[in-house]
Amino acid sequence: MSRRVFIETYGCQMNEADSELMFGLLRHRGYAVAESADEADVVLLNTCAVRERAEERIFGRLGWFKALKRRRPEVVLGVAGCMAERMRETIVERAPHVDLVIGPDAYRRLPQLIDAADAPEADLQVDVRLDRRETYRDVQVDRVAGVSGWISVQRGCDKFCTFCIVPFVRGRERSLAPEDVVAQAREMAETGFREVTLLGQTVSSYYERGHDFADLLTLVHGVEELHRVRYTSPYPNDFSDRLLETLGALPRVGRHIHLPVQSGSSRILKDMKRGYSAESFMALIERVRRILPEHALSTDIIVGYPGETEDDFQQTLELVRAVQFDFAFMFHYSERDGTFAARRRPDDIPLEVKKDRLKRLIDVQEGISKVRNARMIGRRAEVLVQGPSRRDPEQVVGRTSCFRTTILPGAGLAPGDLVPVKISGGTSHTLFGEPLSA
Ligand code: SF4
Repeated sequence: MSRRVFIETYGCQMNEADSELMFGLLRHRGYAVAESADEADVVLLNTCAVRERAEERIFGRLGWFKALKRRRPEVVLGVAGCMAERMRETIVERAPHVDLVIGPDAYRRLPQLIDAADAPEADLQVDVRLDRRETYRDVQVDRVAGVSGWISVQRGCDKFCTFCIVPFVRGRERSLAPEDVVAQAREMAETGFREVTLLGQTVSSYYERGHDFADLLTLVHGVEELHRVRYTSPYPNDFSDRLLETLGALPRVGRHIHLPVQSGSSRILKDMKRGYSAESFMALIERVRRILPEHALSTDIIVGYPGETEDDFQQTLELVRAVQFDFAFMFHYSERDGTFAARRRPDDIPLEVKKDRLKRLIDVQEGISKVRNARMIGRRAEVLVQGPSRRDPEQVVGRTSCFRTTILPGAGLAPGDLVPVKISGGTSHTLFGEPLSA
């Protein structure tokens, strides 16, 4: 009987895509997918290192798996992903029952490491080497069938923002060739996917074999069976007029741009080494609104970065009010060992101040999101149906082109349908729609 593997995934879509990559590598070696850890011969935690809380959660989970190892010592327990890369020694100390630790550039060796960990009296197996060239271009990814799926078009990051651990745990930026991306998109469309999201840490900096990100989007847009093409996460400095005009010319590319601003204070942005100021970011917003007036905008913001004064924070609130983002991912600063900020900038903002700023920021953004969603009421939109609503199986949930979650009456609708709707209501997070006859 084939060995069964269970992978528990934490963190971003990049990790979800990497778990599918690991399934692909293992399936090729005869493994089957287990529905739960209890049924598995190999259990892998694909981890995230972006915030301390995520790491603590994973240590909690590793503690839970200790009981599993006691009951079934033959199970191979592994830690993969960013935390494996960053904390291999700590994992060994705090979770000695772990059998293997593998970083994001070493997944080709996963089958061998599992075999080695499975041998009698085996030592801990570790491979956390970063590889500047690894794109896994020839690996058959084992995607979970569905409406929406991912393609990792770029791995790593060259930006080295001072607060961020990503370049240290995922290595330098490298990209998949455009023809490989298009081949994957075609294969996904043929197997029933209707939406593809192109993934990269700074996906808009994609450049490979003479093709930039605008070219890549145009090529993937050529796969006609796809209803939608999305991308995440872009970098603000990459939005040339050419890219904005390309986005406007490709109707099946989602009308949503994520522009992670991080702070509204130019002083803090400079310290973060983001490469733009609050003023140049606002100039970008002005260009986006002029060229793409229908596009929704979202952002990421960190409050409580070292040295952030109340005045800096007020500038962030001002920027948020001025831009009117449709939604935002907001966090308070969490120091990550190994980053420039952790070495050179004392984490000097008390936790209660960070929490207070975060709450005030969320209050402002929630009010804006509510108003912006309310403006959609009465308008027409196209919703790509994902599946039944969790709250009411009689309804379905989907997303508009501008990435708004929308609930519809489900009668006659199936996952993958692209439905014209009239928006009939909304909260700050969700819209409600009524299907229109086409
Ligand atoms: S761009 Fe900056 S924040 Fe984003 S992954 Fe790279 S280093 Fe981290």
